[in-house]
Parts: sequence; structure tokens; C-alpha cells
Amino acid sequence: MYIRTITFENYRNLQSAAFFPAEGINVIYGDNAQGKTNLLESIWLFTGGRSFRGAKDSELIAFQQPYAHLHLTFYANEREQNIDMTLRPHQRTALLNDVPQNNMVQLVGHFCAVVFSPHHLALVRSGPEERRHFIDAALCQIQPAYAVRLNRYKRVLHERNALLKDVPYHRELEDMLDIWNERLAEEGSYIALERQRYTRLLSESAVQFYDGISGGKELLQLTYKTVFQGTEDLDREEIKQQLLTAFIQRQKDDIACGYTTTGIHRDDLMVKINGKETRSYGSQGQQRSAVLAMKLAEAFLLGEAKREKPVILLDDVLSELDTNRQQYLLTKLEGFQVLITCCEKEISAAYSVRMQDGQIIIAE
Ligand code: ATP
Ligand code: MG
Repeated sequence: MYIRTITFENYRNLQSAAFFPAEGINVIYGDNAQGKTNLLESIWLFTGGRSFRGAKDSELIAFQQPYAHLHLTFYANEREQNIDMTLRPHQRTALLNDVPQNNMVQLVGHFCAVVFSPHHLALVRSGPEERRHFIDAALCQIQPAYAVRLNRYKRVLHERNALLKDVPYHRELEDMLDIWNERLAEEGSYIALERQRYTRLLSESAVQFYDGISGGKELLQLTYKTVFQGTEDLDREEIKQQLLTAFIQRQKDDIACGYTTTGIHRDDLMVKINGKETRSYGSQGQQRSAVLAMKLAEAFLLGEAKREKPVILLDDVLSELDTNRQQYLLTKLEGFQVLITCCEKEISAAYSVRMQDGQIIIAE
């Protein structure tokens, strides 16, 4: 899969223009605050996700403008495709191959990309929510049906929490929790099973990448940490029963707290290097390398599942890596279309452009 062109209008500081990346490695270099990350961020939106910097859509529209408009043409699934997107302060609309989409979830899985920016260090530095989001977002690109299930789980959880808040005032409502326990366990078991399978594959691949990045000196371990106990070979029905038991056992506590204190919405992905938790004990370089290994593994798994390599967006990644690690990364990314931002034009690339004041200047 690769991008043919992207055009922007009123997107942050990017000047209205079109960008035509090459099929291999593309370097976008320039001074700070020129619009390099803005360019990658705009491309990421076509995956159906939100800004990877956590920005609201209203912040993506150029100052003083009513809307931003983006258009992507890309080659995927053996044909030319396009996505047209308009961002307004409270509404995003999109057309996929000229067909209007009801919501952005419908875009997921058509244009696929993997992004790594300094923001993603939160994957090892922050709490479990970031890591759950990482697994969920990766699974959504592989199987759009997962996104539907996840939304359903969130809805059921919301309903159960609302009921938990009402029970202390209306005791007769407590019996109704049985239905919500059952539904939450049903939806949760599907999510848990998929997350567990994905983590196993991710781990196999990320461990190898980390080994390569660290020159074989350190061992990365990724494990899915969840409320249910037992072997990794539990089937969906067994997971459902364990979740159901956990909801029933914690029901009194849940009523007292007014929310669901256990379940797959509290799962985590443990990231360890040489047996020690990376979040607490990893050096800056180890944390960065761990995230990089996870992102490479994500890209390879997505490529295998889709039988097509996703586009790779690397924001400010190279400057932090020594020459050997840079070389390892670039070798692994052969065959992918890659867009890399950096301050200096440090590496040889199929295509290089300089970003200056939101303008893309073709390098000589
Ligand atoms: P660095 O090398 O520091 O990461 P960068 O080239 O990646 O820099 P960006 O983050 O892409 O820089 O762009 C930052 C610029 O975009 C800032 O100058 C900022 O003022 C401008 N900017 C951000 N949002 C908007 C907006 N909504 N409208 C206009 N300009 C904006
Ligand atoms: Mg930047």
C-alpha cells in the first residue's frame, strides 16, 4: 500500500498544496516548528483515527479558517483509491472512493498506517490506558469488526455503571445487574481473546526486533495482563465464565464505588526488559527502543494480516538512534513506503523535501 498524493487546504500551518511521496523512503526535513509533524498527522487521519498528538479536530483547522480539507489518493488492494476528508470544529466528514461514510470507524482498515512519534513513548511511560489503546487500535486496523465489538463493550459498560450508581437509591434495581453482568462478560470475552492472541504474535515479533535493535544484548518481554486467571489456552466460553464470576464477586464493591471495578477495561500489557518493568526501570534509550520494536512488530503483523504493507510514519525518530540502530531500522523497512521527519537531511532516501513555514520545498 502506498500514497500517491495528498493535498491539503487550511490544515494547521500547511500551505495549500499537494505532496507526491515516492514508493520507498521519503525524508521530510527542516527546522523546528515548520510543519513536518503536521504533515504526518494529516496523513494519519485517513486511517480513521484521531490526531496521534491527542489534538481535537478544531485545533487542526488553520487559525481563522472555518474548515480544513484533505484529499488522499493511494494504491491498495490492487487499485487506485481515494479518501476525501473535511474537518469542521464539531464535525468530520469523509468520502471513501466518492461514497460518503456515516462515521470515521467505517474508514478503518482501508488506508492502513503505523505511526511512531515522541508522543508514543507514553506507551511505556504512562498508565495501562495507552497500552490498551495501542492493542485496540492495532486490532481495529486488522479486523474492523473488532472496532464494532469494542464500541459495544464500552456501551454496555456505560449502562452497567449508570445502573450501579442508581442501585443505592433503588435497591429493587440490583436484580437487573444480572443481565448487564452477562452482557459485559459476553462482549468482554471476545475482546480479551483477541487481545491475548494479538499480544502473543506481537510479542514474538517485537522480541526479535528488540534483539536486533539492542544488538542481542537485552531481552524484551511483552505479556497481556488481565483479570482472568489461567493458561493462555483458555477458550472464549472459559474466559466469559471467569469474567462473569469476577463481576458477581465484585458486585457489592462495584455498587459502593458506583462503577465497574474489574473487567477487560482494566487490562494491561506488561513491557519488561531483562525481567524488569520498562516503565519504572528502563533508561530513555531502552524505552524508546521498546516502543520502536512494538511499532515495527505492529507494522509487520498488519502487513501480514492485510497481505499488504502499511505506510510507515516516523516522526523525529532517527535523531535519537545511533548509526547502527538507524541502519537496522531502515533495513527492516525495505519494501514499505516510509515518511520520516527530521531536522537535518541525515539519510539517503528515494525522495527528500524540505519543510519551511508550512511549504513543501523539493530538495535539489
Ligand atoms: P519540530 O521539529 O519542532 O517537531 P515541526 O516541523 O514538526 O517542528 P509542527 O508541529 O508540524 O512542527 O508545526 C508546528 C507549527 O504549526 C507551529 O508553528 C504552530 O504554530 C503551527 N500550528 C499549529 N496549529 C496550527 C493551526 N491550527 N493553524 C495554524 N498554524 C498552526
Ligand atoms: Mg515535529
